[in-house]
Amino acid sequence: MKPIVRSYYNNSDDALLALRTIVLFGNNVSTYKFALTNALLNRNSSSEVKFSELRDDFVKELYFHYSKCPDQWVAGKNSLTEAFDRYKLDSDWETLINVAERNIYNNVFDAFHNVGGSTIQEKDILFEKDSKSKKLFLTDNLNAILENHALKEIIKAENQSRWNVVEEAWKNKLSPNLLEYIDGDFISISKENERVNLRSAVTILFPYQKGKCFYCNKQMNQNTSKVEDDFPDVDHFLPHSYATRIELLGANINGVWNLVISCKECNRGSQGKFNAPAEKTYFEKLLKRNLFFTEEHKHSLKNSVLISLGVKNTFELTSKMNLLYKNTEILVGWKPKTLYDE
Ligand SMILES: [Zn+2]
Repeated sequence: MKPIVRSYYNNSDDALLALRTIVLFGNNVSTYKFALTNALLNRNSSSEVKFSELRDDFVKELYFHYSKCPDQWVAGKNSLTEAFDRYKLDSDWETLINVAERNIYNNVFDAFHNVGGSTIQEKDILFEKDSKSKKLFLTDNLNAILENHALKEIIKAENQSRWNVVEEAWKNKLSPNLLEYIDGDFISISKENERVNLRSAVTILFPYQKGKCFYCNKQMNQNTSKVEDDFPDVDHFLPHSYATRIELLGANINGVWNLVISCKECNRGSQGKFNAPAEKTYFEKLLKRNLFFTEEHKHSLKNSVLISLGVKNTFELTSKMNLLYKNTEILVGWKPKTLYDE
């Protein structure tokens, strides 16, 4: 296996995009990701790194966080937490490392690029794993960060604060998506059990979509019962796991700009979208729809779209939507398995 050559990013924000997406949008098993991110950021740029060279930093960081917040694993105790508990008593580093190596390594490297129900696109990955030689081959995407001290420090700090947020949420038995760490303070962004009634969106969006699923074009029936396959679901185009980010950028996740009507199968069927972002063509379709709503002078949805996005006009709408989609653009987008006629 040869190291992969990739072109450098044009600006620093782009270089951070993949790592940021992994760190910010990982779900609640991201403990390992945070620790691995940290271990990688302690390295200098190079074409490859042995598993064994990352090991100590990785386990040290995990142990540090486990000591201050034992709720790192949703499933509770496992052989690693037991090894940590023993290490606390006997300080036997070698034994701890042995357990860590047996239990966690491969999974961590394999799952690193997964985000929610999706994964980072091939061209944006940070490393490739070679099990045979027990090495990671680092891509230029990662090396662009490792060569730049300022970038390294930025993403290191973001990684730690996101980890802190998640820990704080676990301690309080909350979903990590409801908290954000801002200027040293934890801010709960949940609207106190606010239950937003989104069903009304069906009445408005259904005719625009000619009664068809936004993704697969399946014909739906507005008067059918919830259990039927042609029941129209209200789907969040950018999923709920992005709520914090979206709200920080001044938009409302439940806003009509982000809602589409989809069939049950696409929304929550066996091959459904769930927490994955949809392919870029669907983003373009949504952008076009929202522009249509706002360009029509008297369209009933004009103000709802603008206000829920936190923008004033169509120009701002386009750049805001592009900004909101940016983090998902490097993920492999979801698309339906079956397409019906438009
Ligand atoms: Zn569908």
